Amino acid sequence: QADLAMYKAKEAGRNRLYFYDPAMQEAISSRAQMESELRVAIEQEQLVLYYQPQVNAVGELTGAEALVRWEHPQRGLVGPVEFISVAEASGLILPLGHWVLEAACRQLSDWAEREQTRDLTLSVNISTHQFKQADFVDQLLALVAQYAINPQRLKLELTESLLIDDIDFAIERMRFLKQQGIGFALDDFGTGYSSLAYIKQLPLDQLKIDRCFIDGLPSDANDAAITRIIISLASELKLWVVAEGVETQAQRDFLLDVNCTGFQGYWFGRPVSAEDFLLNALEQQEGI
Ligand code: C2E
Ligand code: MG
Ligand code: MG
Ligand code: MG
Repeated sequence: QADLAMYKAKEAGRNRLYFYDPAMQEAISSRAQMESELRVAIEQEQLVLYYQPQVNAVGELTGAEALVRWEHPQRGLVGPVEFISVAEASGLILPLGHWVLEAACRQLSDWAEREQTRDLTLSVNISTHQFKQADFVDQLLALVAQYAINPQRLKLELTESLLIDDIDFAIERMRFLKQQGIGFALDDFGTGYSSLAYIKQLPLDQLKIDRCFIDGLPSDANDAAITRIIISLASELKLWVVAEGVETQAQRDFLLDVNCTGFQGYWFGRPVSAEDFLLNALEQQEGI
């Protein structure tokens, strides 16, 4: 009885709003400030894409993931964990997401001009809100046409939050884009609302195993079991499976052993500028 009362008080506490909490007030006004700065950043092109290499089981470079950064005039290079949630909450994710897509298409058209980078794929993170936007398909196809890129080189990384409401709409939109040649990866797989019933309906190309499962490899038995199961699920569904956040040789060796097909992480390369990515790609091709 006392336990129940305490539990209820705890639940009530969690739902309470703290109007006069100074720390909370400060957080709100700094979010508001970040929102207005971010608006300027998008207009004034303070955003930049970094590229993290993705390799296959024999270590060949297959492509990159585009990761947005903000070249803040005072704070220097700011990572997306600091501003994507503000962008999502304020609706700025739409212009930001469009900027990212355009920069990615421009990069693919640059890569297409060189033999050594022509076949690389580029994975782009798309927020659920952006993907569900009414004119997302029009915007994307317009960019593909404008930059004359091969849509097969473009992979959209979606998260499981896409599956929460209006799953049928999401599936239809994915199927249509898939017919246009664009590929899909399910990002952070295993951390969200994945229902296997939905997974089987999605026209996916890739599952990306979330870093939280890679962290404990190879010693953590639970991480090892989960990783093995995701890889065999992907294999049964004929999907490419990419392990994210591979930091050590021991993690890489474990993943190779259980037939992982794709690898991404600091062990293979950190996210770097377009110039550095190109230099590294050319070096690797020459076998230096
Ligand atoms: P994500 O899509 O899961 O991207 C992978 C994140 O893991 C990146 O963080 C990457 O730098 C980091 N990472 C890669 N390898 C390693 C590793 O070996 N060890 C560790 N500790 N970390 C590693 P980043 O760049 O900070 O991006 C964080 C998240 O922000 C991304 O997670 C993605 O959800 C989001 N994001 C990034 N760029 C965009 C974008 O253009 N649009 C949207 N909507 N979201 C983005
Ligand atoms: Mg991603
Ligand atoms: Mg991820
Ligand atoms: Mg993530």
